Amino acid sequence: MNKVCFSVSLCQHFSTMPGKAKLACHHGPTNTFTVTTPIGNMELISCPKGLHFLNQGDSINDDNFKPDLSVKVEVKSQLYQDNGYTYKPALVCVDWLRAYFNQPRLEKDPVMPTICPSVVKEGSFTARVWKTLPEQVGFGQTISYGELAKLCESPRASRAVGMAMATNVIQLIMPCHRVINSNGQLGNYAWGKKNSVKDWLLRYEGAIH
Ligand SMILES: [Zn+2]
Repeated sequence: MNKVCFSVSLCQHFSTMPGKAKLACHHGPTNTFTVTTPIGNMELISCPKGLHFLNQGDSINDDNFKPDLSVKVEVKSQLYQDNGYTYKPALVCVDWLRAYFNQPRLEKDPVMPTICPSVVKEGSFTARVWKTLPEQVGFGQTISYGELAKLCESPRASRAVGMAMATNVIQLIMPCHRVINSNGQLGNYAWGKKNSVKDWLLRYEGAIH
């Protein structure tokens, strides 16, 4: 395996090309929200069935990333006004983000927002990775690609795990920032453009010091 190429391919979020995720869904039209968070404004796209996309804007990078835990998680704008029922997964996601950033601290784990089934192919290895990662690797934990492959019952599939992370379009909820290289190095985040974000998230969670 070419380790250099491999690490570059990891955890890209497709942040510069979310076009596919933004397509209308057969579950209904998608709505787009801009959410203020301590790691900058995030774009949230949801259909009535579940999330399609959650990511920091492309303008955030290692040169200008300025996290601020005093920033409240709020919906700043939305493409279509909603009565709060049609896009319930989006509102669950906003609550999840509030809990993640400890606004306020919750006694139990926040409810995970539903991810639209159209985002990841049912029965695929990627679907298995996407199910396993948030279930098994919680706040403050890290895992290597190989270990995650083992958890997915395919110990030789660390490269496929990397590909599954590369197609992650649901930042934070699908915690690919917790997947690091087996040598302990954090590895790239968003094509290496947001490595400081990965570093900050893992420090915030207490996984590294
Ligand atoms: Zn959908």
